[in-house]
Amino acid sequence: MTEEKRYELVIVGGGPAGLTAGLYACRSELDAVLLEQGMPGGQLLNTELIDDYPGMENVGGMELAERMAKHARKFGLEIETATVSSIRKDEDGDFQVTTLDDGVYRAPAVVLTAGGTPNKLEVPGEEEFAGKGVSYCAICDGAFFKGETIAVVGGGDAATEEADFLTRYAEKVYIIHRRDEFRAQKILQDRVFENPKIEVIWDTVVEEILGDESGVQRLRLRDVKADEESTLEVTGVFIFIGFKPNTDLVEEHVDHDPVGYFVTDRDMRTSLPGLFAAGDVRSQLTRQITTAVGDATTATIAAEKYLTELKEKEGAAEAAAATE
Ligand code: NAP
Repeated sequence: MTEEKRYELVIVGGGPAGLTAGLYACRSELDAVLLEQGMPGGQLLNTELIDDYPGMENVGGMELAERMAKHARKFGLEIETATVSSIRKDEDGDFQVTTLDDGVYRAPAVVLTAGGTPNKLEVPGEEEFAGKGVSYCAICDGAFFKGETIAVVGGGDAATEEADFLTRYAEKVYIIHRRDEFRAQKILQDRVFENPKIEVIWDTVVEEILGDESGVQRLRLRDVKADEESTLEVTGVFIFIGFKPNTDLVEEHVDHDPVGYFVTDRDMRTSLPGLFAAGDVRSQLTRQITTAVGDATTATIAAEKYLTELKEKEGAAEAAAATE
């Protein structure tokens, strides 16, 4: 028989949002558990250097992840290695969080901080040079390419907007797009066409990312119309071919935006009572470590209030039943 574990709060996902939620939950003496499938750290583990976390001028992603996990554990956070497969709200009002190895965690409240996954090109070199020239976040990594020549892959809003942003740092930005027109909003396309630092390479796909121990050096490209191969010298490649938030773990309907990000109120409450969302699963302007941390703080304090109100209601109902 599957053993069920009961907590006051289950936190799903161990990136900066989840670790912050864990820290605040345990500091408030909630009985909380954090479920994370790999090492705690989330997207931090894919980022070599972080230079926009206030108070830390330069910190390695791995180091910040370790520090955040250590800090949360100091307050007593239990971090379990488990892959969550579904989150369901039962008729009794409790959430049932199930893991791939059939673990069941029950709690009246859940903070979902499961993040999202940038779509991958799935070409040779992409994994090898991740964090060493291959990036999925212009705001995080753009500043490391001052004066350099880089490439952006994709033709949507993210690729065009981020290519424009990256010209603050890079000397030249190539946008490599697999078709002969962008799907991005016109305003974003106009910014690209008006930016003298951007050159678009149409009808072209990246077939391989090449480099050495210092990082990315060049891309092997294929013109899909002419069926011709070429090489492009770049020291960085930013891939923006879509991003998938991990919100489909929740079985019930939860209000979301057209892309699937959960819509929350200002207290990070989703439309499903007892379910709070923070970090990359949430519909918002930007997805930064600082915003994840701030939103998770709000979510956890709101969850604590929700649990207190729930206990008060249950106490009042029990008292009313006793006097009947
Ligand atoms: P997206 O709109 O899905 O665009 C993905 C782009 O990547 C498309 O141009 C697509 O090409 C290309 N692509 C997909 N798979 C590829 C592959 N394997 N190889 C090469 N190219 C590939 O994704 P997004 O730009 O990340 O945007 C996601 C959502 O966020 C969108 O709803 C977008 O509107 C929103 N967003 C909005 C803003 C804003 O409003 N400022 C900024 C960023 C994102 P095809 O065109 O040929 O399909």
